[in-house]
Amino acid sequence: MMSIENLPGQPHVHYQGDRLHLEQVPLATLAEQYGTPLFVYSQASILAALAGYQRGLAGRHALVCYAMKANSSLGILRLLAAAGCGFDIVSGGELERVLAAGGEPARVIFSGVGKTRGEMRQALKAGIACFNVESEAELEVLNEVAIATGTRAPVSIRVNPNVDPMTHPYISTGLKGSKFGIAHERTVHTYRRAASLAGLRVVGIDCHIGSQITQEGPYLDATDRMLDLVESIESAGIPIEHIDFGGGLGINYNGDRPPEADTLWPKLLAKLDARGFGQRRLLIEPGRSLVGNAGVCVTEVLYLKPGDQKNFCVVDAAMNDLPRPAMYQAYHGIVPLRPRSDTASSVWEVVGPVCESGDWIGHERSLSLRSGDLLAVLSAGAYCMSMASNYNSRGRAAEVLVSGTAARLIRRRETIHDQLAAEQGPGFA
Ligand SMILES: *Cc1c(COP(=O)(O)O)cnc(C)c1O
Repeated sequence: MMSIENLPGQPHVHYQGDRLHLEQVPLATLAEQYGTPLFVYSQASILAALAGYQRGLAGRHALVCYAMKANSSLGILRLLAAAGCGFDIVSGGELERVLAAGGEPARVIFSGVGKTRGEMRQALKAGIACFNVESEAELEVLNEVAIATGTRAPVSIRVNPNVDPMTHPYISTGLKGSKFGIAHERTVHTYRRAASLAGLRVVGIDCHIGSQITQEGPYLDATDRMLDLVESIESAGIPIEHIDFGGGLGINYNGDRPPEADTLWPKLLAKLDARGFGQRRLLIEPGRSLVGNAGVCVTEVLYLKPGDQKNFCVVDAAMNDLPRPAMYQAYHGIVPLRPRSDTASSVWEVVGPVCESGDWIGHERSLSLRSGDLLAVLSAGAYCMSMASNYNSRGRAAEVLVSGTAARLIRRRETIHDQLAAEQGPGFA
């Protein structure tokens, strides 16, 4: 029998008897009811991850803004909004989702390098808490839009602390040469400009150095660099109300050992206290660490193709459902819903049906398999469904949220009619 140690970082995924459960729900039952591929998330796991941050920041004037691009399904947003979470958005579409989920605009901050004038107007009208501005050019446009709208836009400038997060290059964002943020040296100049513009109100400073960060060093360094900047900006006569440290805390995909939020934050807060910033308003923008290990993707083995050089296991989930292996050569654990003892274990390349060699889910996995078996792809709560596409005209998967013994469909499986509706009907030749 497989033990809990086989399921890194996922306390809510476990075998009961020989059946894999998420919380108290057998995953095979959900696969039978809703089909595969199927994303299933644990409510307890999401709330426990949020509680870790809340404990780490207890007693402070702090707001957790969930970086919802990690997983923007309404059912998950509703859960987090009800638990007091704010949101970090990167598009007008994400703002609509927050509002649809009952989130408060006053707890929304807007990040991203390419906000359009339309998105700025929409966010000003909704009354969001802050625009995290990423360039001098954006500052000028936001000022114009705010004046035209008869409002003042609350702004924070995203600075680039030039700290190496020591993670995958595609998810490093705080180094020189990154498209994100404003260079460290330009910071005071840019704040002076922001403070001089009638359509803007400077409220904060922010950074976000990267994602899947598994060491505390980069956070401690970035904190020092941020506080140095706050001191320089305030010496120039521009008060900074809030300091936003971004997101990026990693999760355990494959034996990774990131710091826990409730041990990391006391260390960062000690730094803030030592430098006299302990009473400032603090914002953070965690994405992956709130939802990543709360979700699994259940997939069925379609065909086994043993070969001379490699054995392929073709499953019904693909890179359009689980894009991280193709995009970042990322690792997801893969385990059977019901471990077999009647078949010898072999080493498999677990691949999807999409017509791309990059469509793989796992390399060289030792599994005892037969076609028709169900597998769970682990740590699939973040940057999977939110990045899912219709490539190969595949419909996006369904999603279920479980809590205890209860399971609730939060997104139905997308049908071909959903896809065709945008291309057919009145108005089309
Ligand atoms: C993606 C992103 C986050 C969240 O990153 P995680 O690694 O998922 O925690 C936070 N802030 C900004 C600006 C982002 O782009």
